[in-house]
Order: sequence, then C-alpha cells, then structure tokens
Amino acid sequence: MNTLVIATKNHGKFLEFKKMLGPAKFNIISLLDFTNIDIEETGSTFDENALIKASTVCQKTGLPTLADDSGLQVPILNGEPGIYTARYAGEGATDKDNIEKLLKNLTGVPLDKRQAQFVCSLALVFPEGATFLERGILEGLITLSPRGTGGFGYDPVFLVPEINKTLAEISPDEKNRISHRAKAMEKIKKHLIEHM
Ligand code: IMP
Repeated sequence: MNTLVIATKNHGKFLEFKKMLGPAKFNIISLLDFTNIDIEETGSTFDENALIKASTVCQKTGLPTLADDSGLQVPILNGEPGIYTARYAGEGATDKDNIEKLLKNLTGVPLDKRQAQFVCSLALVFPEGATFLERGILEGLITLSPRGTGGFGYDPVFLVPEINKTLAEISPDEKNRISHRAKAMEKIKKHLIEHM
C-alpha cells in the first residue's frame, strides 16, 4: 500500500487533514513518525512555504508528501498579518496576543471596511517530481471584538457574513465544511486520487 506523509508535527492538524481526506486506499502518516526532520519556512508567500515544506519532506522520506501553509490577510492593513500570522505579535505570541494586536491595528475602522481572508496553500510533491499546488480561500470580516469560544487562532474575530457568526461560534464540522483548508483539500484530493 502506498504511503502519504502529511508534513506536520501538529497531531491536531494531522487528524483534521486525515478526516478531510476520508477513507483512502493509502496509508497516511505525519512527521511525528520520523525523527530529525526540521523544516525552515523561508518563503515569502503561503505558496512558497507549502512547496518548501512538501519538497523538503518528500526528499528526506522518499515518500509522496502533502504540506500546508495558511494565514490571514487583511487588505486595509496591506495584507498583514500574512505569512507572519502565527507570530503577528512576536515570537511565542499567544492567540490572544495576536488578536489584540490585530484589533488594535484596526482601531477606528468600521465593520464594512474590515474585510479579511483566510488562505490555505496546499502542496503535494511526489518523489518522481510531480508537483501540485492548490489554494483555498475563506472571505469574511474582522469583528470589533471577539465572539465565541470554539476553534483556535483568529476564529473569535473572523466573521462569516453569510451566517453572521464568527468561526468560534460554529461547530468543528460546520467549520470543516467551509474553511480555507477544506476548500484547498477538495482540490488537492483530485490529484491524490489520480496519482496515489
Ligand atoms: P498554519 O500555517 O496552518 O499553522 O497557520 C498559521 C496561523 O494562521 C495559525 O497559527 C493561526 O493563527 C492562523 N490560522 C490558520 N488557519 C486558521 C483558522 O482556521 N482559524 C483561525 N486561525 C487560523
């Protein structure tokens, strides 16, 4: 049976991806099954970082590899936090620190000008060299203050206008149906089915 590596050491993210892939005719493992695979995210875009991760891990393991990079872009802040989404408020910043910085930078901006999007880039690289890159986008608005207790990261301040709820106010299943990650995964699945 073929094996696919998901290039993450985050067990939660691994399980989420595995669930989205559904029943597969190949084994799915993560970087937790290997020792000593460290990757530096040196790219300047989500696409570049996903490609760097997938090709590095594919080269080191000799196995087909799927890697993601994701984050938040706010046009009125010139696309910030962008590739610095996880460490917007500095190295080691908590979700709360990052949200506080985002809300502070948006002080005085009315709701209808607080457009934002979550972006997920997914790269799939095969040992023979075949490479696929897909992107999923979820559009929304940054709320004036946090709402809801679910999810992670910027979920409490990311409003989905169609349902007038933040991502922290919906169930994990509902989020997994609409998220940037789910959208990118739907597209990458086609390549997986064809090539695995
Ligand atoms: P990663 O590259 O997928 O680890 O994500 C980078 C950062 O983007 C995370 O640390 C979160 O702060 C943020 N992020 C990515 N996806 C989501 C999401 O679905 N909800 C909230 N925050 C997210």
